[in-house]
Amino acid sequence: MTPLHFFPTSKQSEKDARWQATNLAVKKLIYLNQDKLSKAMAIADAICRQLKSIFPLLDELVRVACPWCPEQCCIVNKVWIDFQDLLFWHLIDQPIPVGQLNCGDKAACRYLNHRGCILPRLIRPWACTLYVCATQNKCLAKIGPLVEKQLKTTIQLIKDQRIDMETEFIKAISKTNVT
Ligand code: SF4
Ligand code: SF4
Repeated sequence: MTPLHFFPTSKQSEKDARWQATNLAVKKLIYLNQDKLSKAMAIADAICRQLKSIFPLLDELVRVACPWCPEQCCIVNKVWIDFQDLLFWHLIDQPIPVGQLNCGDKAACRYLNHRGCILPRLIRPWACTLYVCATQNKCLAKIGPLVEKQLKTTIQLIKDQRIDMETEFIKAISKTNVT
C-alpha cells in the first residue's frame, strides 16, 4: 500500500509527488470501501454543517483583525494539512488543494495572496480554521460571551467529530487488501 505522507519534507517536487500519491491512496481506499463508509460519511457531513455554522463569525474576525496585522500567521506559523483534513475533503467530495502547505519557512503559505487565503474555507486545513489569535480573541470578546462560548463549543465538537470520522474510516478499511 502507498504510504501516506503529511509532514512537509524538504524538496518541493518531492512534497508534491508524495501529495499526489497520498491522495490517490485515500481515494482508492474510499472507492474500495464505499459500502462500509456510511458512518464516516455521515460524520463528515455533520462536520461540514458545523463548519459552515462558524464560517460567518470567522470571516468577521478576519475582517476586523487581519488587515492591520504586523505579523501575519500565514507567513510566520508552520501548519500543515493532516490526514483528517484530507479524509474529510474526500468523504464530502470536495476538490483537494494542489499541494501541502509550505508556510513557516520564512515564506508565505502557497495559498496566501494579497487578499488573504485563496482556499475556500471548507478546504482549508483545520489547523488554520481553529486558530483564533490573541487579536482575534479580543475582537471576539467584544462581540459577546455567548458568541465566544458557542464558537469554543463548536470547535470542540468538530475536534471530537474528526476523531470519530477517522476512527470509523479506519474500522471500515481495516480489512482492505490494497495492492
Ligand atoms: S489571524 Fe491573527 S495573527 Fe493571523 S493575520 Fe489575523 S490578526 Fe494576524
Ligand atoms: S491555507 Fe490559507 S489560512 Fe492556512 S496558512 Fe495557508 S493561506 Fe493561511
